[in-house]
Amino acid sequence: MINTVEQKNILTDKMLRKHNYLRISLTEKCNLRCTYCMPADGVQLTPKNSLMNVDEIFSIAKIFVDHGVNKIRLTGGEPLVRKDFSEILKRLNSLNADLSLTTNGILVDRFIDDFKAYNLRSINVSLDTLQADKFKFITRRDQFLKAYENISLLVQNGFNIKLNVVLIKNFNDDEIKSFINLTKDLPIVVRFIEFMPFNGNNWDKSKLVTQKDILHDVVSYFGSDKLVKLEDNLNFISRDYQISGFMGSFGIISSVSNPFCDGCNRIRLTANGKLKNCLFSNDETDILSSLRNNETIEPLIAKTVYKKFAIRANMDTFKKLNNPELHSKNRSMLTIGG
Ligand code: SAM
Ligand code: SF4
Repeated sequence: MINTVEQKNILTDKMLRKHNYLRISLTEKCNLRCTYCMPADGVQLTPKNSLMNVDEIFSIAKIFVDHGVNKIRLTGGEPLVRKDFSEILKRLNSLNADLSLTTNGILVDRFIDDFKAYNLRSINVSLDTLQADKFKFITRRDQFLKAYENISLLVQNGFNIKLNVVLIKNFNDDEIKSFINLTKDLPIVVRFIEFMPFNGNNWDKSKLVTQKDILHDVVSYFGSDKLVKLEDNLNFISRDYQISGFMGSFGIISSVSNPFCDGCNRIRLTANGKLKNCLFSNDETDILSSLRNNETIEPLIAKTVYKKFAIRANMDTFKKLNNPELHSKNRSMLTIGG
């Protein structure tokens, strides 16, 4: 039952969730072609002049920060393929918000100095397998070594690293233990992500590896006495665990089998300036056009945030999420910004 209340802050929704975390997608382009993210025949790219430029990214981000956002994540597509990435980072660093990045890691060696100069310390790197041939299959590019070396480089340089692993049944679920074993001597967090349905990604529930499956696997390999449940953060998306005595930890992002929408504090801005109040929502608000028309965008932001559904854009049951009529109306993940 939704409790409708008067909206006092433009970033508070009708469930009284406060949105202090803005995720900005910088591009729809990518140097990999992950099968679960990018449709096989690619996506129709937005013309460059309809994408946010550096000034527009800064102006929109500033409005969000002025209203309470204190955390900004840069994502994509692959954010590091943007030629002006460092300029964007520099500008955003002048705002009063923590900066973070989600990347496939392929280009990070070129940016280490800029990350340090502009206070970007928290980086999520996507890596779905520790095997080069599987990497080539899932990303359609032969770049495993580069990705792996760059992750090591980030760890050596003291960045806070989370590895994002999308699990797909009978593809990489046999690597859960190997990923967790990485956390024995490395101060990293491995996050297993349930495969989510989006337009054109051939999602099928038989490919899903659920939170329950993962924990079952972990307990049978490491033993239940070694599995330690860590405390959930206030706005958690990942339920976190540690193997006793290991340096790092691991988490499970169960958006499909066990959503965590109650504490959601996230709002998304696509590279072409559309605001999405939920990853699963196909409803978008064009704030870039309004900005370009010199209109105030706060009322649009307020309306978008306020109408956010309680759970997964109203796909509140697995049955609804499993319905292609509902989930395939959304953009592909590549163009949302995960
Ligand atoms: N290119 C960057 C990267 O790969 O990290 C950033 C963009 S990518 C869309 C952001 C995250 O979304 C990645 O961790 C990726 O694995 C995840 N992702 C993409 N498609 C997904 C899907 N269908 N289900 C679950 N996670 C997905
Ligand atoms: Fe590119 Fe990231 Fe999508 Fe893979 S998951 S295709 S690296 S945007």
